[in-house]
Amino acid sequence: MAGFSQLDPMAIFGGTFDPIHYGHLRTAFELMESLRLPEVRFLPAGTPPHRERPVADARVRLEMVRAAISGQPGFVVDDRELHREGPSYSVDTLLDLRAEYAHRSICLVVGMDAFLDLPKWYHWREILQLAHVVVAHRPGWRVPDMGPLSELLVDRGTGRAGDLHETRAGRIYIHAVTQLEISSTAIREFVFNGGDPRFLMPDGVRKTILDSGCYARHTERT
Ligand code: ATP
Repeated sequence: MAGFSQLDPMAIFGGTFDPIHYGHLRTAFELMESLRLPEVRFLPAGTPPHRERPVADARVRLEMVRAAISGQPGFVVDDRELHREGPSYSVDTLLDLRAEYAHRSICLVVGMDAFLDLPKWYHWREILQLAHVVVAHRPGWRVPDMGPLSELLVDRGTGRAGDLHETRAGRIYIHAVTQLEISSTAIREFVFNGGDPRFLMPDGVRKTILDSGCYARHTERT
């Protein structure tokens, strides 16, 4: 980007991706384009700390992410959380990435719902020492205007995408993206009940779901 220094920002898009769908992909793509981020790194979560275990195996979820991003320049997959024992805390992943990429800008992408819970995240203050936080929100969402998050926003918030290119960590950038009302939970239920998930996700992801039977009735846990 003209005038920006070269800290080679990477966006970190984490999730269970059980399965990945166009809602995830469109958000990642719009952020990459609008903020001119050269790379969006998808990190499938191993054992997420705040929710139930994923239904599909880690291996199948990884295969789905690979299929989803194939052919899209700038989209890459990073499977480090799948190799780690115990809960996947963002701060641990960021420590790991920071050790590997000391000089790059790292932008942790979160939805507004997750951002509103940020003060409950494990070692959340450390997160801002390691990375920027990019909040993807649906148009019309209200940004908090009171409480600890609004104070944090006064201190750390920025409306300049350039800050994400010129510094390695520490800013909060809020960006509206098109929200597609697609949910992984709804897709799993739909497939479990014999539905065809075509047009909710790239064809390669659909193929993996159908070939592996990962959400089919006989493999679904009660
Ligand atoms: P579920 O729909 O079952 O709740 P999920 O898609 O929210 O699952 P994850 O795979 O962990 O679960 O989501 C990864 C990230 O993608 C989260 O930050 C989540 O807020 C965001 N996300 C989920 N669905 C959408 C969507 N339709 N559009 C944009 N972002 C989404």
